[in-house]
Amino acid sequence: MLAVLFFLIWAPLPLLTAAPQRPAPALPGSPAEVRARADRELGLDAGRLARLEQRARETLAELAPRFPGTPSRPIVVTAHRDADSLPAELREHLHEGTPGFVLLGHDEIHLLLDEIAPAPPGDLRTVLRHEMVHVLLDQFAGQRAPLVPRWLHEGLAQVLSDFTYLGTTEEGLVYVMAIGRLPRLSDLERDFPADDLQRRRAYAFARSFTAYLVRETSLETILEAVSRLDDEGFSSAWLRVTHHGLGREMEAWRDHLLNESGAPWRILFNNCFQYLMIAAVGLLAFAAIRRFDRESRIRKRLELAELAETAAAAEAAAESGARPDSSDHADHGTTDGQTPH
Ligand SMILES: [Zn+2]
Repeated sequence: MLAVLFFLIWAPLPLLTAAPQRPAPALPGSPAEVRARADRELGLDAGRLARLEQRARETLAELAPRFPGTPSRPIVVTAHRDADSLPAELREHLHEGTPGFVLLGHDEIHLLLDEIAPAPPGDLRTVLRHEMVHVLLDQFAGQRAPLVPRWLHEGLAQVLSDFTYLGTTEEGLVYVMAIGRLPRLSDLERDFPADDLQRRRAYAFARSFTAYLVRETSLETILEAVSRLDDEGFSSAWLRVTHHGLGREMEAWRDHLLNESGAPWRILFNNCFQYLMIAAVGLLAFAAIRRFDRESRIRKRLELAELAETAAAAEAAAESGARPDSSDHADHGTTDGQTPH
């Protein structure tokens, strides 16, 4: 009722006086495009559910314009309590410790409210944006959706949600590159590694490389390549769109990461305190050893001097014991009562 009054007061006059027309298509983020529901076990009250749906609508309204033609199908956001409360058919899609996932091709976002953190990257805003990008990219690709590489999915989801998933950083990637463990794009076409460490590296790599592509070309260029995907894969589509291979982009990205991103310097500065502490501990240990040496030398000298004194005293005592002592006679004379009366 309040919404109707608000509309009547503020709606422009021409709208009120114009002849009735076909209803305008629903705007992105309207209830026709996104709807929230809660797992029955969760017991989410109507107010919290409405707020969740509102957040989902706002997220969709922000992101849909980046993917022309979306949303092409209604999106459903379902709130669950935790991983244990997920139905078995959904649990297999969840990676341990993650707060959300999507069912591509079904336009479903699933959130685990107990896993949602108060701050990024695990907060509600970031998680909703991340999962919404997956759904919108899937809808944008249409029939080509199964051909979209997983690294591009995860890369765009992280870039457009402004945060790395799993908290991985470019600084970490510099280490990974230095030890020759950088994942290959071809290994991340269909799925990400199950191993936790390798999965973190894969997310960091996907984000950094995709961010580089967005920055150096544009999101529109990437989406054009998606729209021209065929069985030959994303590399071929990229070549058709940009007229140069993805390998060249990869070399340029490596060069950027090592020489222009500042990541190696950030590693140095971030570890500066640790390096100083290690140096300080080393200096303290060195000083302590030197002091100990000096004290032990002094102690040894004193001991030697004491020994020499004792030896000299013993020698003197031995000498005095070998000949008669005149002082003995004087004492005896006194005790013999020769004192005058
Ligand atoms: Zn993702």
